[in-house]
Amino acid sequence: MDIAQRLQVVHERLRAAEHRFGRDPGSVKLLAVSKTQPVSAIRAALAAGQHAFGENYLQEALDKQQALADTPAEWHFIGALQSNKTRDVAGHFDWCHTVDRLKIARRLSQQRPEERPPLNVCIQVNISGEASKAGVLPAGAAELAAQVAELPRLRLRGLMALPAPAEGLAAQRRPLAALRELQEHLVSSGLALDTLSMGMSGDLEAAVAEGATLVRIGTAIFGPRQTTPANGKENKR
Ligand SMILES: *Cc1c(COP(=O)(O)O)cnc(C)c1O
Repeated sequence: MDIAQRLQVVHERLRAAEHRFGRDPGSVKLLAVSKTQPVSAIRAALAAGQHAFGENYLQEALDKQQALADTPAEWHFIGALQSNKTRDVAGHFDWCHTVDRLKIARRLSQQRPEERPPLNVCIQVNISGEASKAGVLPAGAAELAAQVAELPRLRLRGLMALPAPAEGLAAQRRPLAALRELQEHLVSSGLALDTLSMGMSGDLEAAVAEGATLVRIGTAIFGPRQTTPANGKENKR
């Protein structure tokens, strides 16, 4: 199967899951995770109608953005974020899904170029504890969200999680339900959030069942990842 065919299969999975779990058709946005994939693969996905791309490794992403400057691709940063990378994320991306502390959020807001609209951000929550050390703990999420929502050059869109891999729908749904409940709590406390960023190739259905509005899909679209980037220590996944 080529990339256009795999994209078609992913769209069919999404539509089927929306139907099965009573979600509105088309209510779940597809982010194509293109880390380690060549520019030609992104061009193939663009030609097949895919618009939003997620990248984890900053230098790799900047190189690809330059090569694809002639396209309307929308860029989402989904990798681990350290202070020394905020300027490039603020300058070159439309979204950042991995804000997990106030210091990083403040820098992104300060460094967002004036001529661009506010940077869309999600707060990454360490929902299942053991999967990765990234993300704010659930107990700290409300305070961080309230602070991030005040920053002038950021637009807080919602929460993101990267739970530990699990087998089976019920086990996959549990941490995703916890993220949804946390988001509902924030909304009821007055934050206008519209994005729940969760679900990957292996747990797309569980994520749609629990209310994901954006799924981040890599291998199901592009096949196995191509290489380990030179700076692969930035993010283990
Ligand atoms: C790599 C990655 C994905 C995509 O994972 P697949 O299993 O290839 O679909 C999604 N989210 C994040 C944060 C990732 O790093």
